[in-house]
Amino acid sequence: MQIKVDRVAKTRIQDVDFSNIPFGREFADHMFVADYVDGKWGGFSIQPYGKMMYTPAMLGLHYGQTIFEGMKAYRNANGEVMMFRPMDNFKRLNVSAERMCMPTIPVDLMMEALRELLKIDVAWVPTSTDSSLYIRPFMFATDEFLGVKPSDKYRCVMFTGPVGPYYTTPLKVMVEDTYTRAAKGGTGSAKSGGNYGGALYPTKLAQQKGYHQLLWTDSIEHKYIEESGTMNVMFQIGDSLVTPPTGDTILKGITRDSVLTLAADLGIDVQERRISIDELKSAYDKGQLLDAFGVGTAATIAPIELIGYKGQDLVLPPVAQRKMSQLIAKELTAIRYGEVEDKFGWMVSMN
Ligand SMILES: *Cc1c(COP(=O)(O)O)cnc(C)c1O
Repeated sequence: MQIKVDRVAKTRIQDVDFSNIPFGREFADHMFVADYVDGKWGGFSIQPYGKMMYTPAMLGLHYGQTIFEGMKAYRNANGEVMMFRPMDNFKRLNVSAERMCMPTIPVDLMMEALRELLKIDVAWVPTSTDSSLYIRPFMFATDEFLGVKPSDKYRCVMFTGPVGPYYTTPLKVMVEDTYTRAAKGGTGSAKSGGNYGGALYPTKLAQQKGYHQLLWTDSIEHKYIEESGTMNVMFQIGDSLVTPPTGDTILKGITRDSVLTLAADLGIDVQERRISIDELKSAYDKGQLLDAFGVGTAATIAPIELIGYKGQDLVLPPVAQRKMSQLIAKELTAIRYGEVEDKFGWMVSMN
């Protein structure tokens, strides 16, 4: 692959306060761009992060052919920049692409592009251990046409930016029993833009009641737990770690997979099975619901402080008492920052 490189005249890095990085507002100097035309990817370039020009009739703006990924790179104890399971993200981008009738893009091509991009913007990878470089690859339809059809042309862009913690306090979540994020046969297992747009209104209603996020339930009975916000969700019931199985309504999270792998490796009883609200309530009443937390790239492991259901709040034990999730979180952090052996081969060097 030939990548045309056009560098910025002057970096913007000195404008960033690396001791206090918000999530998702700072963007590194460059972005990678590829265009899909006549059935193939080409026009590869790394160029200054900035505006892109399109006409009002661009298909992707109207009918939702947009998909994305989110992953992170870390600067480890030796100062090396390591990406966390990047191939899994690029594979999942292609799973989303298939579902949304968009072209796949080779994983190797994206890996090469990411390495080039990281080399150029390596100074943007933060050094502190609660920060990282967030990487956002995405793809959208670019045909200029108003009929509803799969686009013939697409653009794939990848840009990065330093990020600090996504949530800074434990979450209050509300069980959603009216609205639905994803239905069987729908697009819930794809990271496609529309899933998130549709979730904003019910989330806003919960936020007006004082909650941060929703705990989504199944679309048929609103009885079984699915996800929380844009994270997979896990519970500690007694000594077991329980999480709903992925499928076409639950996104196959890479953090989820990593946490389950680590938990099993630590000898924890891991159960992937359906969990009803009734089960959660009865575990809570018996004092067996010891922990609940969201897992995702952006939020990593986000403790849930309370779960609101039909006007009642299930208040979980203080975060400091949650030994199991803290042990897993500590292990995951140690792997990411190269402090312990990476025995699952998750870290990939940028070089
Ligand atoms: C991205 C995402 C997740 C988390 O996936 P990771 O691979 O762990 O980042 C969970 N649920 C939804 C709906 C998501 O979009």
